[in-house]
Amino acid sequence: MKEVTHFIGGERVKGTSGRFSDVFNPATGEVQARCPLASTEEFARAVEIAQEAQPAWAATNPQRRARVMMEYVRLLNRDMDKLAEVLSSEHGKTFPDAKGDVQRGLEVVEYCIGAPQLLKGEYTDGAGPGIDMYSMRQALGVCGGITPFNFPAMIPLWMFAPAIACGNAFILKPSERDPSVPVMLAELMEEAGLPKGILQVVHGDKEAVDAMLDNPVIQSVGFVGSTPVAEYIYGRGCSNGKRVQCFGGAKNHMIIMPDADMDQAADALVGAGYGAAGERCMAISVAVPVGDETADRLIEKLVPRIEKLKVGPWTAGDDVDYGPLVTAEAKKRVLGLVESGVKQGAELVVDGRGFALQGYEDGFFVGAHLFDKVTPDMDIYKQEIFGPVLSTVRAGSYEEALGLTMDHEMGNGTAIFTRDGDTARDFASRVNVGMIGINVPIPVPLAYHTFGGWKKSMFGDLNQHGPDAFKFYTRTKTVTSRWPSGLKEGGEFHFKAMD
Ligand code: NAD
Repeated sequence: MKEVTHFIGGERVKGTSGRFSDVFNPATGEVQARCPLASTEEFARAVEIAQEAQPAWAATNPQRRARVMMEYVRLLNRDMDKLAEVLSSEHGKTFPDAKGDVQRGLEVVEYCIGAPQLLKGEYTDGAGPGIDMYSMRQALGVCGGITPFNFPAMIPLWMFAPAIACGNAFILKPSERDPSVPVMLAELMEEAGLPKGILQVVHGDKEAVDAMLDNPVIQSVGFVGSTPVAEYIYGRGCSNGKRVQCFGGAKNHMIIMPDADMDQAADALVGAGYGAAGERCMAISVAVPVGDETADRLIEKLVPRIEKLKVGPWTAGDDVDYGPLVTAEAKKRVLGLVESGVKQGAELVVDGRGFALQGYEDGFFVGAHLFDKVTPDMDIYKQEIFGPVLSTVRAGSYEEALGLTMDHEMGNGTAIFTRDGDTARDFASRVNVGMIGINVPIPVPLAYHTFGGWKKSMFGDLNQHGPDAFKFYTRTKTVTSRWPSGLKEGGEFHFKAMD
């Protein structure tokens, strides 16, 4: 049985805790490897190494740090296919999707090449007689990150690239369900010229996470995953005095106005609802057509498109629309929610419950489902399903559709499809959600903007990547200096007057 390793002190090292979790091949249901789950002591060892390595890295000038990022971009491009293959084999997503996972992470590394510019401070010349004032951004020290299974390349890259570009050391605790790619990413960083100990990968479960949250050396914790865990990590991390940002779950609504191009809206919904088997935090899981006539037209367009979706293993070629879910547990949970939807009275217009794939009967595949006439009291509306299940909630008016989106406790992303500029503008301005699409179903901001939801989709102040990441991974220090000539010219008086 293949054994995944940690990446500690610049080496692949075996776990010593004696605890492991299974890594599946989601297409066949077989266990393909085991992932070590670190003990508190193993985690503490990584922290010691990081603490020792970090000051020299922080003292390396930003341009040199940026050169490591530049070389890293080259290596990620060189190994793109290799990374995507391993990613698909553990996660189950299609090969083009896996390459997209690496690509969207790589774009943040490209942004980090701008570190020398992004880390420049501010300067006020002559804040008083002989007095100058300047502020600088300094690295935090040793930072930690905890990432989910659904983007095993992109989200780790979103965290560690800016953290490292800012001069920090970083310890990543990736998802134990698809743990191999993060180790490959760390190895490549070292090949790009990163000193040993600046980026480490420690696998684990709650024990490793708690070890991170309670270790006084760790200055900041970034988390992406489900909302209950996000809340837990935010609370414990903050109460331990750390800087914490936690990104949680989602329930993204897409409003379809009567004037929308219905073919465009249906195509968008199929891609955003079923792509990656719905295992995306920016997936659209709720369609909100405005008016019964719009709803009927939409459903009519959706059904044949959904029935045509090709479900299969990543090895079956690039025309596969989506692959299996990540684990048998995830499959059971999604199918359980589908049953609850039926019991609670939603209309199952496309029923994927009997789906089976010849030769892959033990894989974690789930057929596509479409519900109509879903109401806000149903579990399929309240909960994040994270599977290929789209719910339609019919709204009587734009205000009702907007109200639904605003009343949901999640607020990651949302979209509106319309030809009316006024409505679109009103929606973008009033809705209490972090990322908005106008005729764009998955409005994931590019690397030079920032990514983050509102409400229970985000805990903390600063978003991921873009300028916010450089703020999150640095502290501001402001220096006020006075030189003797200022004193001679009565600077003392002026300086006092300034207070
Ligand atoms: P998860 O919360 O189960 O796991 C995320 C991480 O937390 C993993 O590393 C896991 O090992 C760890 N973890 C799990 N349970 C824990 C516990 N009790 N205590 C401490 N650590 C624990 O999430 P997942 O299933 O890996 O990922 C899917 C979720 O992530 C979905 O809810 C999805 O919406 C969300 N997500 C959000 C974003 C975003 O940017 N908002 C992006 C991607 C995924």
